Amino acid sequence: MTTFSEHDQRGALEAPWTPTDSADLYQMAAWGAGYFVAGKDGHLHVRPDTTAQRQLDLVEVVEAVRKGGHTTPLLVRFRDILDHRLALINAAFSAAISENEYRGRYCAVYPIKVNQQRAVVEEVFRAGSPYGFGLEVGSKPELLAVTAMTDRQPERLIVCNGFKDDAYLHAVMIAAKLGRTIIPVVEKPSELDMILEHAKAVGVRPRIGFRVKLASQGAGRWRDSAGAKSKFGLFLAEVLELFQRLKDQGMEDCLQLVHCHPGSQLQDIRRIKDAVAELAHVYCELSRMGAGLKYLDVGGGLGVDYDGSRTNFASSMNYSIEEYANEVVYRIGSVCDQKGIEHPTIVSESGRAIAAYQSVLVFDVLGSSGLDRFRVPVPPDAEEAAGGDEDLAQPIKDLVEAYRGMTPRRLIECWHDAARAREEAQQLFNLGYLPLEQRSRADELFWASAVKARDLCRRLETVPEELQDLEEILSGTYFCNLSIFQSLPDSWAIGQLFPIMPIHRLDERPTTQAVLADITCDSDGKIDRFVDVRDIKKTLPLHELRPGEPYLLAAFLVGAYQETLGDLHNLFGDPHVVHVVMDEDGSWRIDEFVEGDTVRETLSFVQYDTGVLMDRIARDLERAVADEGMREVEAKRIHAFYAGEFRGFTYLESQRNPAREMQERRP
Ligand code: PLP
Repeated sequence: MTTFSEHDQRGALEAPWTPTDSADLYQMAAWGAGYFVAGKDGHLHVRPDTTAQRQLDLVEVVEAVRKGGHTTPLLVRFRDILDHRLALINAAFSAAISENEYRGRYCAVYPIKVNQQRAVVEEVFRAGSPYGFGLEVGSKPELLAVTAMTDRQPERLIVCNGFKDDAYLHAVMIAAKLGRTIIPVVEKPSELDMILEHAKAVGVRPRIGFRVKLASQGAGRWRDSAGAKSKFGLFLAEVLELFQRLKDQGMEDCLQLVHCHPGSQLQDIRRIKDAVAELAHVYCELSRMGAGLKYLDVGGGLGVDYDGSRTNFASSMNYSIEEYANEVVYRIGSVCDQKGIEHPTIVSESGRAIAAYQSVLVFDVLGSSGLDRFRVPVPPDAEEAAGGDEDLAQPIKDLVEAYRGMTPRRLIECWHDAARAREEAQQLFNLGYLPLEQRSRADELFWASAVKARDLCRRLETVPEELQDLEEILSGTYFCNLSIFQSLPDSWAIGQLFPIMPIHRLDERPTTQAVLADITCDSDGKIDRFVDVRDIKKTLPLHELRPGEPYLLAAFLVGAYQETLGDLHNLFGDPHVVHVVMDEDGSWRIDEFVEGDTVRETLSFVQYDTGVLMDRIARDLERAVADEGMREVEAKRIHAFYAGEFRGFTYLESQRNPAREMQERRP
């Protein structure tokens, strides 16, 4: 790895490295929103309600899981963070409502597609109860789950988005008949007739919502979620036409909700202001025309500041939750006042802002590679430097000279000499005039010069342009026990940045820079962009690996969208998941442990039947016993080995060694 030798040397003179230095280096205060801090013990601590009174050591959680015989990668969900997010959003809207003398109420509906895990949805439903929050669904499977789980609290609002077929709408109307406060949102004109047909068939007077295609477009990655080109929603002409159809049937009171979704991860508050104002005008006009409107649904989009920069950047947002709530409440209130319309219940479908912070993905580093191994001392004389070979080619001698002569003043000159000499060495080798040993030595000397140049650059105030990439070129690669496709799909698919840092050794100076590679056989399975409040970092400061000692990293803010969007690339399945809860006294416990996918499970997802596979292995072993003299006892051991592996975890388990296990079992 790239070694910060200069830092090391200065480090000896400087004050010792502290966890506060790590917190600053990884900019925890900027992106952590108070949930994640560097503890005095050098471990990463979690504060589920952002107070120091209730704080837990994340390393202890990993150790507890290890003691139970399970390894990383491990997804840790903090129920209390989820509760805290819901309380935070509710408090922001309550404050905005009283500040703006708003006369309606606020109701969040959690879009379950953001994280449909049963435990997550149940917790949102439970913790959202005091605030009267509801749920949003976007498909039939989501609707069926939500209908069943709202049996005891039918008054909680269910908003049904997404394209719908007859069965979907029939299920909505049955839920309405069973007493649910459920509103199907018309996404395209043909859905209205279907709603009316199924309402009639089931015998209910339906509540109906219209999704409006706004002229105000979102911005950034999800800009097409709104605007004329959006996939969903009704043009204003269609809104008027469908409303007239309701009126004609004396059902104008059934239109109770208007909805828009201005896009996810809205980074700029101006987009929110525009969309909400436009929707509020539509609401008021329809109300004036006699619609029975009660709810104004501003959709999702409340952002998460993944990089902590508080800017109008894709992984950030230039506003706070309080500003968001204030804007929404103020805009709706003022448009309604202007038009003399009663203030509606404001509904928002915030998903990311509720779910992102609750989950942390912890993973171990399996090893590293890098160009630091060329940081070899160059011996004093050229022959020795070239490995004792007396018959030295000129480029090798030049490389030694370039290395030796490199000083801050002669940096560029010697760097050029080294680059030229390396090129000459390559040419000689390709022509057959340079032996392999000397060619290899040329490489070593060149990279040693690169490391020296990089170290010298670190002392300069301005790094010469042609050397600016050296830091990145010399950075190492840390191989991590995770699948980016499974656990951080947005990092691969849309370049989403997630904060990543070690969860221990925070009282030690990180001495290397590295990028991360996962264990899939795919060159895209890497992370080489990291959060930074000013820019995007191309490498991550990390600690040197110590032989035999685990090194644990974590990706934060991964609770929204990552789990269900993840796929089975290379058949790496879900990691283990642990639900951690904190008690009032600040102690913590594991509330639920969900074992990660087994090999058998991931194989079955792609239609392999493990029984059939085991039968074939058994037949092969019988043949080996009959034809090749394999001993029965060995065949049994091999059979047991395969059976165990099918039941095993899909990720690497460095603590296990089947050869040793087999030996130990040998009679
Ligand atoms: N509502 C609808 C209709 C959506 O399509 C989405 C996601 O794109 C959301 C809500 C949730 O958005 P977010 O997670 O950005 O709050």
